[in-house]
Amino acid sequence: MEEEVTIENLPGVGPATAEKLREAGYDDLLTIAVSSPKELADAADIGESTAAKIILAARKLADIGDFETGDVIFERRSRLRHLTTGSKSLDELLGGGLETQAITEFFGEFGSGKTQIAHQLCVTVQLPEEKGGLEGHAFYIDTENTFRPERITQMATALGLDPKETLKKIHVARAFNSSHQMLLVEKVKELSREIPAKLLVVDSLTAHFRAEYVGRGALADRQQKLNKHMHDLLRWSDLNDGVVCVTNQVSAKPDALFGDPTRPIGGHIVGHTATFRVYLRKSRGEKRIARLIDSPHLPEGEVVFSITKEGIRD
Ligand code: ADP
Ligand code: MG
Repeated sequence: MEEEVTIENLPGVGPATAEKLREAGYDDLLTIAVSSPKELADAADIGESTAAKIILAARKLADIGDFETGDVIFERRSRLRHLTTGSKSLDELLGGGLETQAITEFFGEFGSGKTQIAHQLCVTVQLPEEKGGLEGHAFYIDTENTFRPERITQMATALGLDPKETLKKIHVARAFNSSHQMLLVEKVKELSREIPAKLLVVDSLTAHFRAEYVGRGALADRQQKLNKHMHDLLRWSDLNDGVVCVTNQVSAKPDALFGDPTRPIGGHIVGHTATFRVYLRKSRGEKRIARLIDSPHLPEGEVVFSITKEGIRD
């Protein structure tokens, strides 16, 4: 199903250029096909005329995709399923849970519950459909070293699942930097041919990118890499009819570069690619408030849920 043609098949791209292109995130034909000669030349240390030739060749070879009629899209969307968060009110906010074939972003300040939700989904995804699950495995790309098997054990036990069997169906990898994080998605795509996964978590989506691309000068570059990353994630969700859950830590206080955390303006790096964006904030004790932002087809709203020992609940 995946393309066999690699970027080495492009005229003028030897192993050294291919490596530079990959490092800069130009690792498939489509990405190169839609790039500009200037940006490609900069990324791979080649002349602009060579870059232009490479782009032309990539346009011929790339699977640009095709137009589809509305009924085909309707058919595919009719296969959409939902994954429960463990909280009825949070599920309702999302139109019945996290949608497959989509990316759901949870953003909020430290301690708002992003990682807890990510853990919970790794457990509920294993439930049968009548209990709100998708009967699948989970992939977890962990960038902050906050994955805790002990927490999974608590959540699984609370749902009557065998903790050991549950842990065996969660495939975790640490990402050491943003490039590694992007490569791990490729690995997930590969592994998904063997592992029947229905959930892909990236916790945190943005931490490495924020740390590595500092200041306004780096914003465009960071945006471009993140766009590609999000595109890869969305593609995985389409191919596998799976759920993608990403987290994004923002400061609760408006700051100079990012502004109001709930407004996807200026520094808001993922706002336009995530299908669902949920803003989380702390309330009293174990209570948290979730607000749906900018959904294409659901009303905005706010609900309260709890983080308990058993997991995410109403
Ligand atoms: P972040 O949004 O930074 O990822 P987390 O998802 O890690 O935040 O949420 C941390 C919060 O989750 C803690 O402050 C605590 O309130 C709650 N929490 C973590 N573990 C447990 C547990 N075992 N039982 C109850 N609540 C927990
Ligand atoms: Mg976290």
